Amino acid sequence: MREQGRGHETQTTCWDHPKMTELYQSLADLNNVRFSAYRTAMKLRRLQKALCLDLLNLSAACDALDQHNLKQNDQPMDILQIINCLTTIYDRLEQEHNNLVNVPLCVDMCLNWLLNVYDTGRTGRIRVLSFKTGVVSLCKAHLEDKYRYLFKQVASSTGFCDQRRLGLLLHDSIQIPRQLGEVASFGGSNIEPSVRSCFQFANNKPEIEAALFLDWMRLEPQSMVWLPVLHRVAAAETAKHQAKCNICKECPIIGFRYRSLKHFNYDICQSCFFSGRVAKGHKMHYPMVEYCTPLRQHREVLQSSKLDFISEDWKSCSVQHMNGVVGPLVSFMEKDFTFA
Ligand SMILES: [Zn+2]
Repeated sequence: MREQGRGHETQTTCWDHPKMTELYQSLADLNNVRFSAYRTAMKLRRLQKALCLDLLNLSAACDALDQHNLKQNDQPMDILQIINCLTTIYDRLEQEHNNLVNVPLCVDMCLNWLLNVYDTGRTGRIRVLSFKTGVVSLCKAHLEDKYRYLFKQVASSTGFCDQRRLGLLLHDSIQIPRQLGEVASFGGSNIEPSVRSCFQFANNKPEIEAALFLDWMRLEPQSMVWLPVLHRVAAAETAKHQAKCNICKECPIIGFRYRSLKHFNYDICQSCFFSGRVAKGHKMHYPMVEYCTPLRQHREVLQSSKLDFISEDWKSCSVQHMNGVVGPLVSFMEKDFTFA
């Protein structure tokens, strides 16, 4: 029996694996990121990598769930069932990436994380839906495939979702930032306003279908914005932009690049933007465009400072008011981005 299991038998616990404690401590250095959506997403990115979930395809996750017959989403899973399913997942990952995946460590850490997120009462059980929401939110998949998958878990057999069902999904999703102490930024633990917002968006129909849910998610509702931002954080990791930061002079800019819509040829790097540094004459509330992937063929057009550079290849992911601190923030990334 694993340490985690022993702790649960005595019901005394809040036992973290030493590596998990180390990871949580390491997240503290991200607390200087001023904007909550980025801060949360960067913490989740680090967690995702530590759990090797950035290597896990959605289809492989589904295969493991099927293999363990985890179809009834409202059913509880005990520790042993969680360990068994995670072992299947990580054994397969080890076959594909043998030098990157330490199966016993990954199983322990992922179990530890899932219990911290979904078993706050330390009952030794989580629901199948919670297991799926946790693993799928952090796996490697197209963002909209995750949305479709998660919607399907709570939808009726005919593919519709009422307010109660959507509430279940949003509740389990919001537990992920909650566990990092970040829930206040995403509307708090009460998901009612978010459910209402979705159904208002659907003209108060009693039930919504997947397409409508996706349309709503594309607006990046406050309770869920950490998930698309996680995908952009991942995309930005390898981005190198042929531009110079107007503040720290970094050139090329690595990571996110922010470009002023008010000042011509004004770029800021990720670390200056996150720490809230501004150059003389430029205010934080001025609108900025976020790029998480480098501009290629569109660069010339962009640099002519026109705003009609949005073409088929680029999409506007969001217009956001991050905590009301930053002005309208438009972000661009290539279509159908998946974790590289
Ligand atoms: Zn800079």
